[in-house]
Amino acid sequence: MFSKRTLSALGEFGLIELLAKFAPYNKSVLKGIGDDTAVLNFNGKKLLLLTADMIVEDVHFTKAMGAKAIGRKALACNLSDIAAMGGVPLWAVVSIGLPKNLKSSFVLELYQGMNALASKFSTAIVGGDTVSSDKVVINVALVGKVSQKELILRSGARSGDFVFTTGPLGRSFQSGKHLWFTPRLAESRYLVKNFAPTSMIDISDGLAADLNHILKASRVGAVLYEVSIPKTKNATTQETLSDGEDFELLFTLSPQSTRKLLNKKHPKELSFYKIGEITRQKGLMLITPRGTKKKLKPQGFVHF
Ligand code: ADP
Ligand code: MG
Repeated sequence: MFSKRTLSALGEFGLIELLAKFAPYNKSVLKGIGDDTAVLNFNGKKLLLLTADMIVEDVHFTKAMGAKAIGRKALACNLSDIAAMGGVPLWAVVSIGLPKNLKSSFVLELYQGMNALASKFSTAIVGGDTVSSDKVVINVALVGKVSQKELILRSGARSGDFVFTTGPLGRSFQSGKHLWFTPRLAESRYLVKNFAPTSMIDISDGLAADLNHILKASRVGAVLYEVSIPKTKNATTQETLSDGEDFELLFTLSPQSTRKLLNKKHPKELSFYKIGEITRQKGLMLITPRGTKKKLKPQGFVHF
């Protein structure tokens, strides 16, 4: 029925929903398609997290951005998804497609960037694949672990919870943050150990779009307070709401955990900003600095 529709008619998320309908599962799959990583039951005690992200030349980066930064980014996106589940990264496999005329020094530098970040977060690179292609393509698949107690899904937000993020949003491409961001693994561990977030996602598509993923999975709505959203220097409100690739965490806390977080002195390298609240009423609203309410479209970056 869908075969004649082009991908842009279907949309990136329409396509993924369609694929999800027919995806084979087995008993070990606790969460398949639809969160930041899959959640898999391996031996009953710890859960495995599994995620893959691919970056492509001229879509996510240009060669001029430098091989080290590109290699680093390829792994960092995946680390960010493990952070979004409350987990700890363990092992990665890295597959690369490379044009025949590419200098070997480019590939060595790419791996320098990736290896340095992997070491920083105690992640082993244990395999991969190498093929030729017209453009540079890098796919990283990453396995992590999390205990049942510390696992945070997109689906746990409840009416009355508050919405938080971990850093300034918008203009990630213009500022270079999309290459050099720190995956928020330290924040994630700190949050799951101390405040039991009810839901979490990393901001890859944009604040409004990624909050909408939480709202849909949790069957709730939200209001955002425009004045409270931390902005990257020179970012407009529109850019803070819809620019992608900030890779900050977006999470919700119960009212009790919110009080605890706001009253606690955190290690100085960790930041948390309360930017809104979850409502029973579906949809996403913005409260402007003048106090008026505006309906927000969940717009953000989509591939098709
Ligand atoms: P994220 O931005 O957190 O990496 P995505 O928006 O890329 O997540 O993907 C959303 C969900 O769809 C994830 O659960 C992901 O594993 C799944 N997904 C994306 N592409 C595919 C695909 N080609 N086949 C199966 N699942 C996919
Ligand atoms: Mg994600």
